Amino acid sequence: MGWLARVFGKSTGSGQRPRIFLTNSLSGTKEVFVPLKPGMVLLYTCGPTVYSRQHIGNLRSILFSDTLSRVFTHAGYRVRRVINITDVGHLVGNGDIGEDKVEESAKREGLSASTIAERYTKMFLDDLAELNVDTEDIFFPRATQYIEEQISLARRLEEKGFAYRTRSGLYFDTNRFPAYGKLGGLKDAELKAGARIETDPEKHNPADFVLWKKTPRGVHRLQEWDSPWGRGCPGWNIECSAMAHTLLGVEIDIHTGGEDLAPTHHNNEIAQSEAAFGRPFVHYWMHNAFLNMGGEKISKSTGNVIYLSDLVAKGYHPLSLRYFFLQAHHRTPLSFSFDALDGAAGALERLWNLSREIAKESERHSAPSEARKSFLAAMRNDIATPQALSILWSSLRSEEYAPEEKWGLLEDAEGHLGLSLLSPPSLHTLSREDVPDDIQDMLEKREKARVSKDFKEADRIRAAIERSGYRVDDGPNGPVLTRATL
Ligand code: AMP
Ligand code: ZN
Repeated sequence: MGWLARVFGKSTGSGQRPRIFLTNSLSGTKEVFVPLKPGMVLLYTCGPTVYSRQHIGNLRSILFSDTLSRVFTHAGYRVRRVINITDVGHLVGNGDIGEDKVEESAKREGLSASTIAERYTKMFLDDLAELNVDTEDIFFPRATQYIEEQISLARRLEEKGFAYRTRSGLYFDTNRFPAYGKLGGLKDAELKAGARIETDPEKHNPADFVLWKKTPRGVHRLQEWDSPWGRGCPGWNIECSAMAHTLLGVEIDIHTGGEDLAPTHHNNEIAQSEAAFGRPFVHYWMHNAFLNMGGEKISKSTGNVIYLSDLVAKGYHPLSLRYFFLQAHHRTPLSFSFDALDGAAGALERLWNLSREIAKESERHSAPSEARKSFLAAMRNDIATPQALSILWSSLRSEEYAPEEKWGLLEDAEGHLGLSLLSPPSLHTLSREDVPDDIQDMLEKREKARVSKDFKEADRIRAAIERSGYRVDDGPNGPVLTRATL
């Protein structure tokens, strides 16, 4: 099978596939992955609520699921991926009652809910594309397009006796589902403590959650639908269950999301799905730890936030962020700082330079090696990206491996990490087409000299570049070439 086919999973292939180990939040242990359908992975990731931009903490969660998916496609699986877009039902404060986040944002800006949702969905998809996430390969369902499916699931739960009505809507009855809280092994007290803050007094138990929220009399909602329980909108939790069932099936292989979602949202998803169909909903739950900044979680609600566009405006290449995330294991909390990002940006730039050299030396021919085996073993061992990066670095710098073996390793690394290692971006300010070959050549030689700390030679080449009417500056992502002003 060719490299592209392996990376993009267009071929399902057959026969023995490599073993992949994952830490399952359900058991709390590392387990070998066994698919529901041979050669296939059904993967669902909780996506954004599109009432504002996604911050880099949200992006950590999506990039983890992207790396996970790459590990499977590279191992010969066909991955069917869904990331939902929440454009209705997610309430301010994550409670059962209160204002809908998208509606609140729409009213504040004097726009329709769908305009707001589309605006932030587009920004999200643009961010993903900049981070080398292949958005063409992912299905992004909007909650508002699956209202019928959500109503039908809620109705099924009511018919089976798992739901009850109050004056404000329809609730899931957690008492009727004894396994409630099994994700993370939550006990009754923890569930009560973690229960929604703003709550309906008619609820039977604090952990019960809304399946359908009726529009209160006299209130005008921007987005509402008719239902057996009155006009209103679905609760936030039911959306993921309904879309996962419709698009992937009643049982799925893997479900991912940030660790904050496990205690309530994901336990609610399990309760709804398993009560409705009597089958295990998800075989492997995987959660990423938070991205923090200044000792606190990056979070829209506290205002401790930073966006990808802020980083790009400061001159960072978007992939510096992807590299930064890969330096930590997904289950380890990570602290964002510009110093740390500088470190990642510099390392990525050096990796790109190494790759340019190896491309020339190997003429882009690849060969198998022990290094590649170790790299794959690390990635297949609970997506151990820090170990995989360290194997990548030590092998690319080692004299032990031939250029073709290194190029092969770079192909594998690119398939798994998505860092543009096989065709590194070069100049940020001028596009490559705008730069004559001799200047491009000088620039590369100067960069080589700079990286190997031959500053005398680097300065000599810089002067030659300037004499040709160009100017070179060293930014956080490497050299930036501009046309010198006269
Ligand atoms: P939201 O738009 O708030 O529903 O979040 C979308 C996804 O991002 C969820 O999986 C969250 O758990 C995740 N998430 C939110 N904040 C962070 C953070 N600071 N670090 C990592 N993941 C996060
Ligand atoms: Zn979800």
